[in-house]
Amino acid sequence: MTNAPSRLNLDSAALVSNWHALAAMSGSAACGAAIKADGYGLGAMQIVSRLADAGCRDFFVATWAEAEPLASFGVSVSVLHGVREEDLAQAGAGGARPVLNTVNQIARWKQAGGGSCDVMVDTGMNRLGVSVDDIAAGLLDGLQVETLMSHLACADQDHAMNERQRMAFAALAGRTGARRMSLANSAGIALGESYAFDLTRPGIALYGGVPRPEFAGVIRQVVTPEAQILQRRHVPAGASVGYNATFTTTRDTQVAILNLGYADGYFRGFSGTGAALFEERQLPVLGRVSMDLIAIDVSTAPELAEGDWVALDYGLPVAAAASGMSQYELLTGLGERFQRCWTVS
Ligand SMILES: *Cc1c(COP(=O)(O)O)cnc(C)c1O
Repeated sequence: MTNAPSRLNLDSAALVSNWHALAAMSGSAACGAAIKADGYGLGAMQIVSRLADAGCRDFFVATWAEAEPLASFGVSVSVLHGVREEDLAQAGAGGARPVLNTVNQIARWKQAGGGSCDVMVDTGMNRLGVSVDDIAAGLLDGLQVETLMSHLACADQDHAMNERQRMAFAALAGRTGARRMSLANSAGIALGESYAFDLTRPGIALYGGVPRPEFAGVIRQVVTPEAQILQRRHVPAGASVGYNATFTTTRDTQVAILNLGYADGYFRGFSGTGAALFEERQLPVLGRVSMDLIAIDVSTAPELAEGDWVALDYGLPVAAAASGMSQYELLTGLGERFQRCWTVS
């Protein structure tokens, strides 16, 4: 799609710089990349090609549908949701390997002939994974395990659970025949090298998310939504703007209507709290975010006219606080109407 009235400016250099920063913080562990949900909404293919060039070798998707287009890159792809009966044909073809999460998945994989796989063990999150006790009882015997994984529930907080999970996971070292062990997501990397084991699995921080204060000043913004001005109008003092008339001008105001809205992932939480940026000037969102449109105050930007482009203020920690959404939702919600434009800053 070309000539769209909205686009995502995607900064290649920032993406690669974030991966190098996370790899450095991972110490001697290899640093992979979680690219599920189409690379957190930015475009998985584009991300894999850039990170593979930078030296990243281990990629994580949720489903086999997400793994399929990546087969040609010659990198390691792990499918986090494991293997259903319906997935066996694709899984057996060898372009990616399953992360086995349940006793049934392990039985299914063994029955289908085994082959290289990863295994998820639950160390306290109670989401996916087999139990430590089942592993101790020999569940993995005869499996060819590439990476034994677990996942941290509270890594973005200083929480006692982090250390409990790390200890439970570390106790499995040398007891499973797995070639590598992997525990840390983005936030887990900031908890220190004892959390890195052999392989880390960052997602959000690659894409500009700052899940812990340690990343401030280290992680660079990758995505900036931009939209074209559809109309510029003068609104006199005392008039309302937008649905339900939630905003009323207190003075004569210049308003620009932009080509994006909550259907694009610019959520209603930005109503009255979001802003666009134009040459260092903040242009506040006025009133409600509509499905396809927002209104911004351009009184301080007289040069902006119909057809001009403006960027949204989308630094993820600040945008999350402004909108009440998580940094993850602000990325994965970005819609298909945006043209995705990769640039190098
Ligand atoms: C999504 C995911 C990650 C990446 O998490 P971030 O918080 O985005 O860094 C790592 N491991 C697993 C199992 C995941 O599901």
